[in-house]
Amino acid sequence: AKKLRIDKILSNLGYGSRAEIKRDCKHGVIEVNGKIISNPGTQVDPENDEILYSGERVEYREYIYIMMNKPDGYISATFDKRDPIVLDLIDDPSYLAFEPFPVGRLDKDTEGLLVLTNDGKLSHRVLSPKKHVPKTYYAKVEGVVSDEDIKSFEEGVVLDDGYKTMPSQLKILKSDELSEIELTIHEGKFHQVKRMFESVGKKVVYLKRLSMGKLKLDESLGLGEYRELTDEEVKLIE
Ligand code: URA
Repeated sequence: AKKLRIDKILSNLGYGSRAEIKRDCKHGVIEVNGKIISNPGTQVDPENDEILYSGERVEYREYIYIMMNKPDGYISATFDKRDPIVLDLIDDPSYLAFEPFPVGRLDKDTEGLLVLTNDGKLSHRVLSPKKHVPKTYYAKVEGVVSDEDIKSFEEGVVLDDGYKTMPSQLKILKSDELSEIELTIHEGKFHQVKRMFESVGKKVVYLKRLSMGKLKLDESLGLGEYRELTDEEVKLIE
């Protein structure tokens, strides 16, 4: 099995910086397979060796999966020179130690389900244009959304750049001057939902993602709140 330095394992899990772990080693805080480890460079197999930190078992894992209810005003990225980013909302150092990044993007003003992970392979699979992972959005739309729009979206509409969208499923919750809808798309073009409505002469004024694959937003999360996904939930994404 793969061996790693104990200071790296523990700092990646959020137990502190490498310097802090080194100090912990000096203080006899860390045990592996029943032996106190004083050398922070000791090679350990995190999958099979038993690691104790202050007498408590360290649970090793490589990946983290977080569900966030993204609020308006935050950029879905790991860096932005101007605006706050979704990672600014995560205040647990032990989560940030995994270096999570958002799986795909929501616009700055879009709210709702955002998954963050450090599992690059999962992210890649979910975003792959071949996989067509469905994403369902709730939107408020200026203009009367009609059955005709349902038909157009099912057939595919042509966006401003000439791209014709794949069939998508539109459900009208309220047809009015300010309509309310749910839309399920199976691809992820830039500003797709907004541009699809533009193509039928309507304007999205509020957008929220409800689900990705079979994973639904936990509505008990307030805007800006987040939690880890369960193992079962992770499987629902793709
Ligand atoms: N479609 C959009 O227009 N914006 C989003 O943030 C997501 C889908």
